[in-house]
This record gives sequence, structure tokens and C-alpha cells, in this order.
Amino acid sequence: MSADTFATVLLGALGLIVGSFLNVCIYRLPRGASVAWPGSHCPSCGRPLAWFENVPVVSWLVLRGRCRTCATPISPRYPIVEAITALLFVAAYPAYGPGPLLAVRLLFVCALVVLFAIDLEHQILPNVITLPGIVIGVLCSVLLPPGWPSALLGVAAGGLFPFAIAEVYLRVRGREGMGMGDFKMLAMVGAFLGWPLVWITLLMACVLGIVIGGGALLVSRRGLATRIPFGTFIAVAAALCVYFGDALEYGYARAVRMYLDWAGVG
Ligand SMILES: [Zn+2]
Repeated sequence: MSADTFATVLLGALGLIVGSFLNVCIYRLPRGASVAWPGSHCPSCGRPLAWFENVPVVSWLVLRGRCRTCATPISPRYPIVEAITALLFVAAYPAYGPGPLLAVRLLFVCALVVLFAIDLEHQILPNVITLPGIVIGVLCSVLLPPGWPSALLGVAAGGLFPFAIAEVYLRVRGREGMGMGDFKMLAMVGAFLGWPLVWITLLMACVLGIVIGGGALLVSRRGLATRIPFGTFIAVAAALCVYFGDALEYGYARAVRMYLDWAGVG
């Protein structure tokens, strides 16, 4: 087995285990419960799970998505989060190779997975993830890419600029377009990815929000006042920037240049 194959298998296995822990965070953080205690148990009958019921993906498939005791259906979110986390871990290796930046990016991706799922289900983005995320992102960026000036600019661009726009929107329209959680999450993205990727994240999240969120609202016919889980789209857009950052930055720069040429500026 080559070193790269070994690293890929190792990262896949690690991703499954970490994904299993992210499931615990996704379930417990919005409910204000500790993620460390007690151990995994059936949310319906409360029975603690045996080790063989806790194997990522496999257990859910073997148990056919039901608790062994009370037969309550277990959400397919569990195996899906585990599989996606494993895929994200494996995909990060060719992008970042072995080294400290790989570890930092994986940590960031874990936060994105948790925020994605919690915002989708509860329409909240817990401070307990976003606020430490901003600090950790800036600290890591002191020694690693994108560097602290870009990270601080990213925090400002991600957190303050959309906040200013939302304030104007609030004054003009009389209701909130984005929540405080969205700004903190964008500031966290800026702290890890820096400027200009946080800006590209915001643009892509808006496009995703309009296309997917708007489409879903039209289908469900609940009207546009329904809150769109914008953090879910920020998570997808930021993840795209983690894996395709260089290409996206290049594409964005080209698009801006083409627009400036077309407009006759510069
Ligand atoms: Zn049960």
C-alpha cells in the first residue's frame, strides 16, 4: 500500500468516527445538552447503545434505521452525516496533503457540517461554535494560510459588511433579512479562509439561497416570509471554497476583470 493510499484509508476511517461525534453535537447542542456525557443512547426509549450499535454507517444499515428495543425509527441523518464527513476528510488530502493546514481545514469543515445540519433543522447557528471558531480561525491563520492580515480582513468583510447591509435592509424593509448567527458564521469563515474567499462564500451562499431556498419556498407555497436557513447555504459555499478555493478565486477575478472591461473601466 502506498503512503497516499494509507493516508486516504486512515482519513476515511477518522472521518467516520468524527462524523459520529458530529451527530452527537448536531443533536445535543440545540437542546442545550452536554456533548461529552452521557454516552450515546436511544432518544426515544433512553437505552444506552452497545458498541456494535454505534459503528458509523454500518449499524444504521444493519438495524435498518430502527432502535433494537423500541423500534423507533432512527433518523437517516446519522449515516448521512458520517458518510459526508468521511468523504470530506478523504477529499481534503489531495487538496492540502499531510501537514498542519490539513488538520486546520478538517476542523473548519467539521464546524461547517454541524452548522449546516443544525441551521437546516432548527434555524439557529449556536454561538458555542461560531464564536470560538472566529478566535481559532484567526489564531491558526497567524502561522498558516491565508495569514493574519487576510484573516482579520475576512472577519471584517464576513461579519461587519453584511451586518451593515442587513441594518439598512432592516431600516428600509422593516424586517430582518439575515440573523446575527449568519454574521458570526461568516466572520468565522473569514477567520479561516481570509479575504477574498469569504466574499466569494457570501456571493455563492446568496445564489444558492435564492435558487434552492426560493425554489423550495415556491414548491411548499408557504410564502417568502418563511425563514430560509441561510447558514446552511453559507456552509455549502464555504466548503466549496475549502476544496476549490484557488479555482473559485481565479474565476471570480476573471469575471470582475471581464465586467470592468465591458463597463469600460480600467
Ligand atoms: Zn429505543
